[in-house]
Amino acid sequence: MQIRKAGRGEDKIDRETEKAKVPPSGKKLLAWYDENKRILPWREDPSPYHVWLSEIMLQQTRVEAVKGYYERFLAALPDIAALASAPEDVYLKLWEGLGYYSRVRNLHKAAGVIMEEYGGRMPETAKELRTLPGIGPYTAAAIASIAFGAAEPALDGNLLRIFARMTACEESVAAPIVKKQAEDYFRAVLQNAAHADRCGDINQALMDLGATVCLPNGAPQCASCPWAGNCAAHSLGRERSFPVTPEKKPRRIEELTVFVILAGSSTILHKRPERGLLAGLYEFPNAAGHLDRNEAEAFVRALGLRPLKLTALPPAKHIFTHIEWHMTGYEVRADELELSDGAEKWHAEHQGYSITGLREAQEKYSIPSAFRAYYDHFRSLRGDDHSIVRLARRRRIPN
Ligand code: SF4
Repeated sequence: MQIRKAGRGEDKIDRETEKAKVPPSGKKLLAWYDENKRILPWREDPSPYHVWLSEIMLQQTRVEAVKGYYERFLAALPDIAALASAPEDVYLKLWEGLGYYSRVRNLHKAAGVIMEEYGGRMPETAKELRTLPGIGPYTAAAIASIAFGAAEPALDGNLLRIFARMTACEESVAAPIVKKQAEDYFRAVLQNAAHADRCGDINQALMDLGATVCLPNGAPQCASCPWAGNCAAHSLGRERSFPVTPEKKPRRIEELTVFVILAGSSTILHKRPERGLLAGLYEFPNAAGHLDRNEAEAFVRALGLRPLKLTALPPAKHIFTHIEWHMTGYEVRADELELSDGAEKWHAEHQGYSITGLREAQEKYSIPSAFRAYYDHFRSLRGDDHSIVRLARRRRIPN
């Protein structure tokens, strides 16, 4: 563990260097956890399935946002067998709004593997868990420790931040060598024989410490920290200098024009490609760039629709990890589809597009939260009697 000698007297820094090398005991941490742990639904019955589901939901998502989803998901799919046999539209709909849909696709795939290869029982070791789709080192360690009591450190951004402050680590926490040092450090805490039966609680205590006390963005609550007496950054008065993080690349900006189409009591949705961002999910038809009214009309006509009225919708923005969508939109009132050559030709020419009723679009299709602003507008629309679905039926278009 390398500590740069800077500014506050070499003796003191040397003393803190030595202190930082010794991982603290988990005793004070567990006592703090017993008093202060967060009440979370998945902690009531930490079965392997519950821990797994909650950890996957919590990736990239706030605890408060996850609680409701977690309870709805479990009510519909209460065990691994139910998840493994659930149809795609059911589990995607349960995930609607949580984002990062590859998480639920992998949950479903992994449930199938557990049913087929492990007789429906979740494997117990972190090594086996890591072989399942969507389960990386952090999630494997969290399940192995919380559900099965293994001494596996669940190393995520919270633990790296705690480690960087406890040891006043001057290197970037993104460096593989620092991650390895942090893993060894917390493994030593977990392996202490005095509390070897509480490995899951230690990991959860560290999760809570990172979420409620050793906060990110330079604002740790050291006065409430059970490890303050062992913390090098705190002793040096330099809590805000850690963790050292690499400079972030700016996100790529993509402009889009989104079309909320209403023809009678029907709309048109588009299925995204099976790979890449929001893979396989449904979206409102959209085009790259911010289209002016003429370009927007041309886009609608290319879908085989005759636009009757275009109303500009307010701009909206959605931020992904590496990309920002800057969107504009149009509400389109359209007339009938021109299907002189029949439904099959229309579908062949408009691959990935589906005609659907307004209500069905809301109840059956999973539209990602990236389109939230336009989805809210869509939900406010009321169809009239002039329906492209009725026209479609007359012309035998599947919808
Ligand atoms: S003493 Fe402060 S900086 Fe150190 S681990 Fe505790 S909360 Fe974080």
